[in-house]
Amino acid sequence: MRVSPDLMSDVAEVLLSEEQIAAKVAEMGARISADYEGRELTLVSVLKGSLPFMADLMRRITLPLRIDLMEVSSYGGATTESSGLVRILKDLSAPIEGRDVLLVEDIIDTGLTLNYLMRYLRGKNPHSIKICTLLDKPARRLVEIPLDYVGFEIPDAFVVGYGLDFGEVYRNLRFVGVLRPEAYES
Ligand code: 5GP
Repeated sequence: MRVSPDLMSDVAEVLLSEEQIAAKVAEMGARISADYEGRELTLVSVLKGSLPFMADLMRRITLPLRIDLMEVSSYGGATTESSGLVRILKDLSAPIEGRDVLLVEDIIDTGLTLNYLMRYLRGKNPHSIKICTLLDKPARRLVEIPLDYVGFEIPDAFVVGYGLDFGEVYRNLRFVGVLRPEAYES
């Protein structure tokens, strides 16, 4: 993998600009605040990709809320894509029993990770659990899960930026973009 020192040289196309993302996150925060009016929320997000979205979204929600973070990894690359087996690297730090939980995701692709997480979190007996994702790539879905809040539907392309990585790099781009093919090579 070869990363350009300025990162931008590796970007073929900006799919969603910083301004578009900010406007959408504000809109989502307002909707969530209205939908949960009078209640307290627990936002659960999944490291590392959801970090910028979580940080921005929580500040657009006007309700009392708590946050918790999980980290998951797939069991061994390609096999996991089809099996949906997920390993928990970091678990919740507080119980969610009886709480209204909103799972905050960066992107839903096949839906396998989400499917695992939803079953895991439901097993902890929250009062309610809904899903909020910034990006949705419906073309590659293998498990149908109703999504409650979706920022943008995007085409079937591998995207980076605003938390999303390629080889752990590019997470700090302020927009969501598509890499040049050369960035994938070697
Ligand atoms: P799923 O289990 O829905 O197939 O995959 C979810 C995870 O795969 C996401 O949380 C993300 O880490 C990764 N992923 C899926 N699509 C993309 C993409 O286009 N770009 C990046 N950087 N990661 C992706």
